Amino acid sequence: MTQGRSESSALRGVHAVAREFADLPIEVVVKEDCLRCGVWFEPDALRRGHAYARKSYFIFSFDHRPLEDMEGEPAREDAPEEIALEGGPWGFRRVIISVRLNPESPYRVGLDDDRSLQLFCDGEPIASVAFSPTPPYYGEMLDDGTPITEVAPSIEWGYLLYLTVFRMCQYFGKEEECQFCDINRNFKQQRALGRPYHAVKPIDRLLAALDHVVQSGARAEAYTLTGGSVTTQLEGKDEASFYIEYAEAIEERFPGRWIGKMVVQALPQQDVRRIHAAGIGIYHPNYEIWDRELFERICPGKARHVGRDTWIARIIDAAEVFGPERVIPNFVGGIEMARPFGFKTEEEAWRSTGEGLDHFMSRGIAPRFTTWCPEPLSVLGPAGPASLRYHVGLLKLWRDTHAKHGLAPPPGYGQPGIGNAVFSVSSFMDVIG
Ligand code: SF4
Repeated sequence: MTQGRSESSALRGVHAVAREFADLPIEVVVKEDCLRCGVWFEPDALRRGHAYARKSYFIFSFDHRPLEDMEGEPAREDAPEEIALEGGPWGFRRVIISVRLNPESPYRVGLDDDRSLQLFCDGEPIASVAFSPTPPYYGEMLDDGTPITEVAPSIEWGYLLYLTVFRMCQYFGKEEECQFCDINRNFKQQRALGRPYHAVKPIDRLLAALDHVVQSGARAEAYTLTGGSVTTQLEGKDEASFYIEYAEAIEERFPGRWIGKMVVQALPQQDVRRIHAAGIGIYHPNYEIWDRELFERICPGKARHVGRDTWIARIIDAAEVFGPERVIPNFVGGIEMARPFGFKTEEEAWRSTGEGLDHFMSRGIAPRFTTWCPEPLSVLGPAGPASLRYHVGLLKLWRDTHAKHGLAPPPGYGQPGIGNAVFSVSSFMDVIG
């Protein structure tokens, strides 16, 4: 069933789900629970005086509370971008988790008796914690005073440069925006707090930031060019032309230095060819949710402007250009259970999502997912999260469908497997390899 916590404790829920899905590592059960419920930080855990990369708000808020509700809390300013769990009483192998703040979460990072960082669930110690390492260029400013973290933050434990070049989306308002997405409202809340947050990143500023990244010797291996959709024009360009200009500029200045990825809509094949020709190696035309009716309800802008059938057909067409393994559409795992329109049981939701996975994976295209964070500023925020059982069952479904079709680990995500994977907003890379 969906939503919220039952009368039983979070810890009991973890044990029950771990028992049911005993062939998945228990680390991913905890990871998924932290992603769907968020985590919180005790102030002394943030004041140990060690360096770490702070949460950069790289595109969405990925929090369970609006920033203004957390005013005055050290976690609001000083939470790390990601945490790694390792060792501890449960003997965890390393698993990396994106930080989603929630003061009400049963998961809290604090200090144990030895003053070491520890994750607690319902007050019980679970695993030792490390905060995301500081990339060597963090703290630097561009000549115009822009902090470099606003332009080119690193995520996935330093593996990925996340380049959100358009921080808004032209699907605007309840009738158009994807109902799980807070991109436009997050932009507003960041600006309202006076944070340096620019709608469109000038190309020169981006290249200057990447110069710093390169000079610093940062070990990033990939970049993602992303942002909101462009339904009309942005700076006189259509969506493909707008994003391609960044790709061309990056690849001209730093040819082949990183694996280039681009998240844009499912575009006609002629545009996909231009994206490929610009030097992008991996294309992410995110379809968000498989079920037809739910797609139309949850992604009304995409449904109206592109349409589900066209969207899916274009994903398949893109495989002719990039090769199927390099077309990696995202879906938001969990929104298929969001009340009031979502599936009523986990089994129904697995069946539907599994049909989508089979559709793509049988053609060599492996979708990936992001575990849904029910952001309060999004339309669906109050409807979440989906149950832990759903999320862990979804991982099993993904893993088994991937294996059934004999697919290789997706490129552009680093090493797969528990202990090696760095992808932090879902555990799909932790369960293969
Ligand atoms: S297309 Fe949907 S998910 Fe993407 S930024 Fe726009 S509203 Fe958000």
